[in-house]
Formats: sequence, structure tokens, C-alpha cells
Amino acid sequence: MTFCSHSPIQQIQLPLFKKHNVSVFVKRDDLIHPIISGNKWRKLKYQLNDFNRNTDQGILSFGGCFSNHIHALAYATHQQNIPCVGLIRGEANAQNFTLNCAEKWQMKLKFLTRTEYRKRSSSEFLQQIKANYPGYLIIPEGGSAAKAVLGVSEVIPEIIQQQDFDTIITPVGSGGTIAGLINGCLPFNKQVIGVAVLKNASYLKQDIENLVSSQVSNTVQWQLLTQYHGGGYAKFSQQDCQQMLEFMAETNLPIEPIYSGKMILAFLDLLRQGYFHSGHKIMLLHTGGLQGLHGMVARGLINSDHWPVPKFEVQ
Ligand SMILES: *Cc1c(COP(=O)(O)O)cnc(C)c1O
Repeated sequence: MTFCSHSPIQQIQLPLFKKHNVSVFVKRDDLIHPIISGNKWRKLKYQLNDFNRNTDQGILSFGGCFSNHIHALAYATHQQNIPCVGLIRGEANAQNFTLNCAEKWQMKLKFLTRTEYRKRSSSEFLQQIKANYPGYLIIPEGGSAAKAVLGVSEVIPEIIQQQDFDTIITPVGSGGTIAGLINGCLPFNKQVIGVAVLKNASYLKQDIENLVSSQVSNTVQWQLLTQYHGGGYAKFSQQDCQQMLEFMAETNLPIEPIYSGKMILAFLDLLRQGYFHSGHKIMLLHTGGLQGLHGMVARGLINSDHWPVPKFEVQ
């Protein structure tokens, strides 16, 4: 993918931070690329390098209708002239901003029922897909393969060059991003906190450990918080929404309610509980995903009169 210089780090201020005497920074990976935002850029970086034009026919992956991964993959493969298939969960022939972009970038969309989609990592199902799409490289949902860990790891030395910190916090979906942060922190003695954005997410702990070596997962101080899902994936209460809007108004940091918003609410709660000692430096990883706001406005989940929705060019 095209070279991208370091995404910026921004310090944010709130009276609550002063009260607890902590410094809070945001690594703005949402600004890493105009289209492929945040962790999806880092996760795809090395996986796309694996594509061999002589032997591979294309790339195939999975995602929901508003998937940031599908959006990023469609754009990246289009840029490199790699044929790409997206297997999309549920809602046959759904149309929305994310999927319209993907189609514009020539991703072939195929809709799976929710039951079919649930089988996506079973070997039987994958065999069938390999038979239907011979020569296609298969990238797992969310792009969380071993090579994703490598790409995400690089953010840690990059941040340390820019700004020292004690703890880095990230939202967690499928676990690839936090695995990358844990891996990247090995030489640096930093703490990693992941905020799971879906319900009953404790199974992710094993997935995360499987993505890094046991030496890494035992050495680095990390934890997965599973109590901040706010009702489940892409669910949030009016009250949570209000808190996110207040946070945005006070800090000017653009967030969305599925990933970064839940991380922020979790972080504020930990802070209020006195989780971070005085003088602590906290780095929040902004994993991007602002493109998903378009779909949320269209579904009536958020109101664009209140929630700032960034403009995206569809190139
Ligand atoms: C995909 C995604 C995540 C979750 O990353 P995982 O590696 O799947 O845990 C977090 N934030 C945003 C904006 C995402 O698009």
C-alpha cells in the first residue's frame, strides 16, 4: 500500500484528567489514510503483500454490512488491481454507504444468511469456499490473521518516538489489533488494555493469546475488559450516546459509537474509579471507523444534526 507517514498524536484535556492528575493522548490512526482508516490499514499492510499475481486469482474475505474491514479491503484491492470477493452477513442485497463504496471499488459482494455466516471459520465451510473460488487468498473476518499482528505491532515503536506513555487502550472486535499492541509492547514495558465492544467476549482472550506467542502474552501486562459492551455489538443506550456527544464537544475528538465511543466510556469509567495513579500517561488508540457513521445515520441509530459525520470522498 502507499507509504503513509506517522499518524499524529494529540493531547486531550478534560477537568476529570486534571482531577486525577493524568495525561491523556490520542494516537490518531483515524487519520492514517483518507479511505483505509485506522487499524484496518495496519492489519492489511502485510497481508496484501502476500498476494502473488502469478499464482493467486484474488482475495476473499468476510464482514457485516457496515464492516470497516470490507470497506478498507475493497479500496485497497481496487488500488492494486486485485480481484476481490466480500462475503457479507445477512440482509440479502443490502445497500448502504459501506457496500456502495465496496461495489464502486469492484468488490464482488455475495450475501450469506446469518446461519451460513456463522460457519465462516469451520474447515468444512472454508473447503467449500476454496472449491467455489479456486486460487483465492482467504482473509479472516476483520482481517485478524497472524500478519495483521505484525502490521499493528509497528504502531508501538512509532508512538514511542512521538510521545512516551504508560498504558495504551484500544477497542477490541475480533482481537487482532490488541494482539498487535501486546506484541509491539514486548520490548517496552507498557501496559495494554482492550475494551471489548461485543457481549460475552471473554472467549476473545484465547483468540488473542493464539495470535501472539505465549512468551509474549505471559510477559506483557495486558487485560481484556468485557463489561463495557453497552448492550452488545453496535448497541448503545441514549445515555451512552449523550456521554459520547459531550466528550466530543469538550475535546473536539471525532468518534463513533461502535468502537472508539465505547473505548472512551470505558476509559472515563476506569478513571473515575481511580484506576490510574497520579502522573500516569494514557495513550488512546483511535482505530478509525468513522465511515460507519453514514450507515448509522441511515439506519436512524444516530442523528446527524447532533453527531458530526465526516465527509468522505468516494474515489
Ligand atoms: C475492526 C475495528 C476494530 C476492532 O479491531 P479488531 O482487530 O477486530 O479487534 C476497532 N476499531 C475499529 C474502528 C474497527 O474498524
